[in-house]
Amino acid sequence: MKILIVEDSRSNLMLLTEYIRRLGATVLPAENGAAAVASFDRERPDLVLLDVILPDIDGFEVARRIRAIEQGGDWTPIIFLSSLDKDKDVEQGIMAGGDDYLLKPVSEIVLGAKVRAMGRLIEMRASLVKLASELDKANQDLQRLSASDGLTGIANRRYFDDCLTREWRRARRGGGGHHLALMMCDVDHFKKFNDTYGHQAGDECLRRVAGAIATSLERGSDVAARYGGEEFVVLLPETPIGGALIVAEKIRRAVQALNIPHSASSHSRVTLSIGLAATVPELDNAADSLIAAADRALYEAKNNGRNRVVRAPPLTAA
Ligand code: GH3
Ligand code: MG
Ligand code: MG
Ligand code: MG
Repeated sequence: MKILIVEDSRSNLMLLTEYIRRLGATVLPAENGAAAVASFDRERPDLVLLDVILPDIDGFEVARRIRAIEQGGDWTPIIFLSSLDKDKDVEQGIMAGGDDYLLKPVSEIVLGAKVRAMGRLIEMRASLVKLASELDKANQDLQRLSASDGLTGIANRRYFDDCLTREWRRARRGGGGHHLALMMCDVDHFKKFNDTYGHQAGDECLRRVAGAIATSLERGSDVAARYGGEEFVVLLPETPIGGALIVAEKIRRAVQALNIPHSASSHSRVTLSIGLAATVPELDNAADSLIAAADRALYEAKNNGRNRVVRAPPLTAA
């Protein structure tokens, strides 16, 4: 333990230093307020014993400056030492940021007991700080987990629904001209894939498809999520249909390029059908209409031979 002793009387300082050394702690001496503040700033002691009457700034002011130096969550116990014994002085010391008050002449036994008690508080506080940071991390993990899909690691449907609502509102607030594109992606003949290669291979396939979709997106604002089963959804904010078509084609090709064998498919490997819809969100249509339009386009992609992108006709007002 490192203890800063602030005391302008040489004889008192020597006595206190002796007491503290006998407790097994290291002493940082200071004989005036300015030296005490500088030493605190430089050495960051574990505890401060602070005389009230000093030749320059008084102990109360030193305490205030120490508290100002401490960062956010830092706390160093300060024990005032003074022969002033009026209730008011005790109050003023605590108000200035002190934690305890000892009357001079200081008894070695009382000083030792107070230092030990403060030591206990320091330890307790340190374990609370550690606990709080662990809790903080656990909360972050939880938040991440509740937003992601357990199998593929990309976002889940709940997260996607929130994003869609938020982006829809944002585009509408923007006052026109803000495009929003959405695509529904569905793995082709996936039931047959499971039947042929087994469920575990199916799971691995979904992980790889999710990875191919996610890595095809370039903007930080784009969102890919697992919508359920072997269906994925992609949201592209601020993207008109032309740009969205390019992204959709890129995704379709990326999945095809994974070259995952699928003997029961006419394409002989795993492929994706994509339904794409884009609109400029307005008051008289809802986010659901965009999903429904993408769904209808996906249905068409399936009927037209799969492994393709179909774009929905422009949305009509509901
Ligand atoms: P289509 O080309 O028309 O989309 O045919 P499909 O077989 O892919 O479509 P269908 O909806 O009939 O079947 C989807 C299959 O996806 C059924 C289900 O067993 C499988 N599936 C859904 N979720 C999972 C999963 O988490 N893991 C695995 N391995 N299979 C899944
Ligand atoms: Mg003094
Ligand atoms: Mg499906
Ligand atoms: Mg399917």
